[in-house]
Amino acid sequence: MSDFLVNGYKNITPYVPGEQPRDKKYIKLNTNESPFCPPESVMNAVAGQVADIQLYSDPELLNLRRQMSDSFNMPIECIAMTNGSDEALNLAFMAFADKQKPLAFADITYGFYKVIAELNAIPYTLIPLSEDLSVCADDYVGINKTIVIANPNAPTGKYLEIGEIEKIVKSNPENIIIIDEAYIDFGGESAAALIGKYNNLIVIGTFSKSRSMAGARLGYVFAAPEIIADINAIRYSMNPFNVNAFTEAAGIAVLKEQKYFDDKCDTIKKNRSWTQQKLRELGFDVIDSMTNFVFAMTEAMGGKELYLKLKDKGVLVRHFDSERIKNYNRITIGTIEQMRTLIGKIEEILEEKQNEEC
Ligand SMILES: *Cc1c(COP(=O)(O)O)cnc(C)c1O
Repeated sequence: MSDFLVNGYKNITPYVPGEQPRDKKYIKLNTNESPFCPPESVMNAVAGQVADIQLYSDPELLNLRRQMSDSFNMPIECIAMTNGSDEALNLAFMAFADKQKPLAFADITYGFYKVIAELNAIPYTLIPLSEDLSVCADDYVGINKTIVIANPNAPTGKYLEIGEIEKIVKSNPENIIIIDEAYIDFGGESAAALIGKYNNLIVIGTFSKSRSMAGARLGYVFAAPEIIADINAIRYSMNPFNVNAFTEAAGIAVLKEQKYFDDKCDTIKKNRSWTQQKLRELGFDVIDSMTNFVFAMTEAMGGKELYLKLKDKGVLVRHFDSERIKNYNRITIGTIEQMRTLIGKIEEILEEKQNEEC
């Protein structure tokens, strides 16, 4: 830390993203990216944009928002686009939470919430997940806080029924409820259908997971028009060109390939069932997942030990050093070949462990 950093930032703990190692080729099952590249139309759309690189991107992102409106059946004035959904979360926290409107979120959820809250000096309350690591909707009913819920939740993979989400939104009419739907395309039902009914609901989504665009950074916000206007006031005050022209072009092309991505999500769901079953056969405790990852633990060894041994064998998974979940690993669902390799390596590791103990 330099002597020049202002006091307000001296105590922040930055987010630690999952490793993106460049040292050797790993089977990367640690950051919930899609294992599938986008279709050719997306590559062509990006290439077609190069000739206009001297021009600023469209701050209103009209073409992309029109396509979003079509694809999601959402009025265009209810849509804002962001540089990844992490930016959407930051904008929403800035706009709708502060000392008077503190945040509430689960003790085990997306690690970025805490980081963004601290960056913006927003106080927050952690609401513990239940014993089985579920979000319990009743814990959020009428609590008079700005609430953020990842649904399905990360890293557990558990999904909260939309009726439960509605209960939370309805019972906190004075506060904004943010639903982070990064993984909604892998089996859940989006709360976006409730936007017309409640003016205190924000739904945030991303192109990073189900739409194979993590590297392009594209996220979105769905909310009532006044809410979107507030988000835009902050967006224009920070970075009006937050979504670059290549990403806009890629986003439009991706949305036109709905069938391609629906098929890929179906493949991920199949591979997920396969992986869950294989892990259970090997004695793992696996939480039923509604996402493109599974959260699993074994009595045979600690979560960190398994993570390190897998890494040693060229397979990266994500381990969180947090007390309640330290026995678990979060494993991204990849191609069936990748999952076969994962299971093979786990079998080896379990066998080596047994031999050690004999
Ligand atoms: C991956 C993820 C995001 C962030 O995705 P972006 O790449 O910034 O769009 C947001 N929320 C959750 C719960 C995630 O897992």
